[in-house]
Amino acid sequence: MATGKINVSVENIFPLIKKFLYSDHEIFLRELISNATDATLKLKHLTSIGETKVEYGNPIIEVKVDKDNKRIHIIDQGIGMTEEEVKKYINEVAFSGAEEFLDKYKDAGKDAGIIGHFGLGFYSAFMVAEKVEIITKSHQKAPAVHWSCDGSPEFSIEPSNKTERGTEIILHIAEDSTEFLEDARIRELLTKYNKFMPIPIKFGTKTETLPKPEGAKEEEPAPTKEVDDIINNPNPAWTKQPTDLKEEDYKSFYRELYPMQFEEPLFHIHLNVDYPFNLTGILYFPKLTNDLSIQKDKIQLYQNQVFVTDNVEGIVPEFLTMLKGVIDSPDIPLNVSRSYLQADGAVKKISSYITRKVADKLTSLFKNNREDFEQKWNDIKVVIEYGMLSEDKFFDKADKFALYPSVDGDFYTFEELEAKIKDNQTDKDDKLVVLYASNKEAQHSYIEAAKKKGYEVLLLDSPIVPHLMQKLETSKEDLSFVRVDADHVDNLIKKEDTAISKLSDEEKDRLKADLEKVVSDKGYTIQMEAMESSASPFIITEPEFMRRMKEMQQT
Ligand code: ADP
Ligand code: MG
Repeated sequence: MATGKINVSVENIFPLIKKFLYSDHEIFLRELISNATDATLKLKHLTSIGETKVEYGNPIIEVKVDKDNKRIHIIDQGIGMTEEEVKKYINEVAFSGAEEFLDKYKDAGKDAGIIGHFGLGFYSAFMVAEKVEIITKSHQKAPAVHWSCDGSPEFSIEPSNKTERGTEIILHIAEDSTEFLEDARIRELLTKYNKFMPIPIKFGTKTETLPKPEGAKEEEPAPTKEVDDIINNPNPAWTKQPTDLKEEDYKSFYRELYPMQFEEPLFHIHLNVDYPFNLTGILYFPKLTNDLSIQKDKIQLYQNQVFVTDNVEGIVPEFLTMLKGVIDSPDIPLNVSRSYLQADGAVKKISSYITRKVADKLTSLFKNNREDFEQKWNDIKVVIEYGMLSEDKFFDKADKFALYPSVDGDFYTFEELEAKIKDNQTDKDDKLVVLYASNKEAQHSYIEAAKKKGYEVLLLDSPIVPHLMQKLETSKEDLSFVRVDADHVDNLIKKEDTAISKLSDEEKDRLKADLEKVVSDKGYTIQMEAMESSASPFIITEPEFMRRMKEMQQT
């Protein structure tokens, strides 16, 4: 048996690792399973190019919890390590980076947001274990080795009698981490981080019901069999080619991703690019819902099928964070702060690629099936309108498919609307006046009056519409949005046509004086002629700009 000293000048790095990574202890399992996966994939590669004589077979990774002995085992059938490799990769590589890491991130480490996603690799095991053992046998002809370390810089290495190829990691769980000895907790972690990893992961067994043998009696129970409980789907939809997937495959992947989500998605966008960066994924437009538990489902970020986070802020433009789905990219730096992310060139490119793909998909949906697009408009408009407001490039594309519904349920693109109203809806400055209502019931009489005049009235009721109108007014020349009940409408609606008041002039004057007392705000206009279709004897209007100012202060 040989002993040696791990090459690191900090006397005992493990208390430091624990302290700095406190917020994210659970990632140890993800890291160890990632290593087991890497080791298996390396073997796959070596066998495929004929570099090794061993049979690849159907390797799996097994996770076992031994509660009585307070241990977790992670066992793979990958390439394994020789003694030299253990010394090189575990002792030197893993530990030499520690000092630098701690120096660099000592202060940043206090900000859990930064350190939270730091892939610490093998030695993240020491966040939960007081002692870690590696028993490994290389695919090459070499004796198996047993490495052991109790968290001090001392390690021991000795021969092992392991006969099967691969590596077993044994964690002796520390007193303060016994939560990880619960099956339910481990299963939760496996489903969170490893659900789509490329090598099958076994956690215990499950009972499978077999078909009844022929001639079996009715009351006879169906035979059962214990089978490996494989917790992951090694070939998730986003890793496949779009041409190999049907509509139904996308829907079932959505259910796989969000098992608690019962609404079907409206449509999907398959992302697939390998230059100048690598990114795959599937995004879904969800159906709008008020169910808060469903709103919690977010876009998930993966790296090579390993779950990283569902906080994609900075990577996906903000207006698209309402979408669902997955993004998988090894090119997103994770060990950095959010503000750094936003400034990072690669991330910027990724973000604009995603925006472009979403815009292109919407364009094609609009072109290929306008009716369907109109039906979905209510569910997708918030995302699109928000996108038009926040991203100019998206605005330019969305301007061609963004819809403006009329109070009668017709949908116009801006261009169509303009063509329809340009001849009879302009004001004295020759500006195009788009009339809209925000509440069909409350503004009913104004809407009816405007329609009688042959005006088109839109129904714009989403909360960000005041901002969007502002944006449209500044980006398109000679355009103004006017709510049907604003005083401005008078410039379009000629008074003599609408005056149908049955009151005498004297009665009108008296009523007007009374009303002026009640409506003390000088910004309002009181008009003593009612509109034809309206039963009201007078109308009180507010200037468009005044109301809009108020609304914008509220949103
Ligand atoms: P990284 O995975 O980023 O290289 P780690 O600290 O996780 O860093 O692992 C260090 C090295 O130890 C790996 O690169 C690999 O060579 C070796 N290693 C770790 N786990 C295994 C394993 N299960 N089988 C074979 N080699 C392993
Ligand atoms: Mg690793």
